[in-house]
Amino acid sequence: MAGGKSNQAKPAEIYRRLRRAYPDAACALHHRNPFELLAATILSAQCTDVRVNLVTPGLFARYPGPREFAGADLARVEQAIRSTGFYRNKAKAMVGASKLLVETFAAQVPQTMDELLQLPGVARKTANVVLGNAFGKNEGVVVDTHVARLSGRLGLSRQSDPVKIERDLMALFPREDWTMLAHLLIFHGRRVCAARRPACDGCVLSGICPKIGVAGGAGKPGSRRGAAPGGAGGGKPGRPHAL
Ligand code: SF4
Repeated sequence: MAGGKSNQAKPAEIYRRLRRAYPDAACALHHRNPFELLAATILSAQCTDVRVNLVTPGLFARYPGPREFAGADLARVEQAIRSTGFYRNKAKAMVGASKLLVETFAAQVPQTMDELLQLPGVARKTANVVLGNAFGKNEGVVVDTHVARLSGRLGLSRQSDPVKIERDLMALFPREDWTMLAHLLIFHGRRVCAARRPACDGCVLSGICPKIGVAGGAGKPGSRRGAAPGGAGGGKPGRPHAL
């Protein structure tokens, strides 16, 4: 459940203000097709989108699609993505997911949550990025470190687990806004509501934000430890589970 009403800024007003503040909010990962977005999202775990965007042009020139990744030498893929960090797990996820795409999905990225979750290394967050941004499908809300942090500060969720935060956000915002909502919260988290020093004074949400966990705010700091770190992708690539 989301936080109590006293600590919960009005979701519609939050959305309205952020939409006005960031008319250009969009997925920051460069991609030309659903597979490139899937791969870039896997790479974005614990890594900046800027860094991922530096790596992917060369990577996709060498491995243009799932067939090439499926047949790739794992060590070569590791070296190609090394600068994004946690490269062993990421390479394993990309090659493993590509093999399943080729074997089961005719080398196409599937367009349903259930099918995407079958891919090695893919959990709800990555699936939501792909469904929302490559296929225009609002199946859920991407919860990365920014979305998790802002959801707590704004009183939209008391949860620390990304899946539970996502559930709270889905209950508070209209379905058609879910993909854009994540973009807006990520933009705001990067530009204004930073983890260590949120710039509350100049924030467009200042008047309606309970600032939970922020010095001088309305509530106690909530633990965000369960939240998935990273950019538009995120996840916990240091551990051998889905992103
Ligand atoms: S008022 Fe402060 S805590 Fe609230 S969203 Fe703005 S920067 Fe973040």
